[in-house]
Amino acid sequence: NKRVKIKELLTWEPAQQEVTVMGWVRTFRNNQFIALNDGSTNTNLQVVVELGKYEDDFLKRITTSSSLKVTGTVIASQGKGQKLEIKAATLEILGDSDPEKYPLQPKKHSLEFLREKAHLRFRTNTFGSVFRVRHSLAFAIHKFFHEKGFLYMHTPIITASDAEGAGEMFRVTTLPFDNPPRNEDGSINFKEDFFGRTTNLTVSGQLEGELAATAFGEIYTFGPTFRAENSNTTRHLAEFWMIEPEMAFCDLEDNMNLAEEFIKYIIRFAMEHNREDLEFLAARLAEEEKQLPADKRSDMGLIEKLEFVLNNNFERITYTEAIDILLQSPAYKKKKFQYEVKWGVDMQSEHERYLVEKHFKKPVIVTNYPKEFKAFYMRMNEDGKTVAAMDILAPGIGEIVGGSQREERMEVLEARMKEMNIPAEELWWYLDTRRFGTVPHAGFGLGFERMVLFVTGMSNIRDVIAFPRAPKTAEF
Ligand code: ATP
Ligand code: MG
Ligand code: MG
Ligand code: MG
Repeated sequence: NKRVKIKELLTWEPAQQEVTVMGWVRTFRNNQFIALNDGSTNTNLQVVVELGKYEDDFLKRITTSSSLKVTGTVIASQGKGQKLEIKAATLEILGDSDPEKYPLQPKKHSLEFLREKAHLRFRTNTFGSVFRVRHSLAFAIHKFFHEKGFLYMHTPIITASDAEGAGEMFRVTTLPFDNPPRNEDGSINFKEDFFGRTTNLTVSGQLEGELAATAFGEIYTFGPTFRAENSNTTRHLAEFWMIEPEMAFCDLEDNMNLAEEFIKYIIRFAMEHNREDLEFLAARLAEEEKQLPADKRSDMGLIEKLEFVLNNNFERITYTEAIDILLQSPAYKKKKFQYEVKWGVDMQSEHERYLVEKHFKKPVIVTNYPKEFKAFYMRMNEDGKTVAAMDILAPGIGEIVGGSQREERMEVLEARMKEMNIPAEELWWYLDTRRFGTVPHAGFGLGFERMVLFVTGMSNIRDVIAFPRAPKTAEF
């Protein structure tokens, strides 16, 4: 007997084939109809149990979330909305699930409730769809870069570099907390550490990625990134995944073109491979939005939104233009923004969302930011005030991508590091790329969870990663 996953089985013609399916019970009606789910799709398989064949004690054990092995024949279904069902020949209970103790009901639970039951929430339709879409996006990312001839590099997780200079690092040390070795002045002597110096969990693989790109031409990383974010927002995690391509012989324009093509490619892949899940999530979102006041609802459904993104160019504006738009906006005049709008100050999510949701009504790429709040490695523009940076902003989220053309001119880079008090000795290995055969190059970082948020229409980043690490969420 062939074991078949439910998703595949549902595409078959019912022709009395014998099959084996395994899964978890969602519901059991009238001692006769089992709705079985195996995680391959949200559509449950109906398993029909022959009346009178089993003892009551056995039937009582078929409860929500108990696990079953079923062998039977595939027959046409009498029920509406399903083509086929299984007539059970043998039923084996692999694991019981005490209904008094099992915390999830077949009914719909709130996302807040499910966040508290994060260890079991994979067993719900919403999380089934979210994680199948997440899987497809991850797969499409590798497919895209592979087809373009990029090399997949693994940059270190434990590193001494702080690419962003934002100081949001988790320290890694082997020194004992209770009695660390000390220098004469009483400070902790990190030279005694396993690595002989202070290290941290990576905040970005970019600097190491540049080393590889300046040899292989085009590379990407796709790995976990850690930031000790103090803010408790729906867009920040302490552990998230980032995709960082880095391209030699590439300028800001090429960089933006690649990022836009890339985003569209992975969305299209999910649309083609996860239609059922996206339709489920779209319906879920529409239901949720019904609870909102009319002016807070989006004017497009999830599927329409994704199609719109695929069929339209992203708007491209400079930071200076963005600030002008914000300063002239009704929202600014009516003092609707919580944070300051001023040339030279970074935009906040509320400003970014205004630009995409209210003003342009499409994704926006903002370029040429003031150097003051951007990283040291971004290429200085002619004006000496702005750098060749680009952020991509998405509706419902704000920033999803941060990228730039990198400063390839040694003198300019060194001057910039000096200005920002970054010691050149610490980055000697990085500066060697400029010292030996420097080339124009560029790259970007896409926050994977923000992309998953965008495609699934979910609104809290904790709901698109399996094990969210955010303040007070790391129970296991
Ligand atoms: P933000 O302004 O939203 O804090 P950032 O500018 O600090 O983001 P970058 O350093 O540019 O972020 O990182 C590149 C990308 O990584 C961002 O565009 C975003 O998609 C994602 N990202 C950054 N921080 C987080 C986080 N704490 N959790 C999830 N994704 C993040
Ligand atoms: Mg940040
Ligand atoms: Mg930012
Ligand atoms: Mg950024």
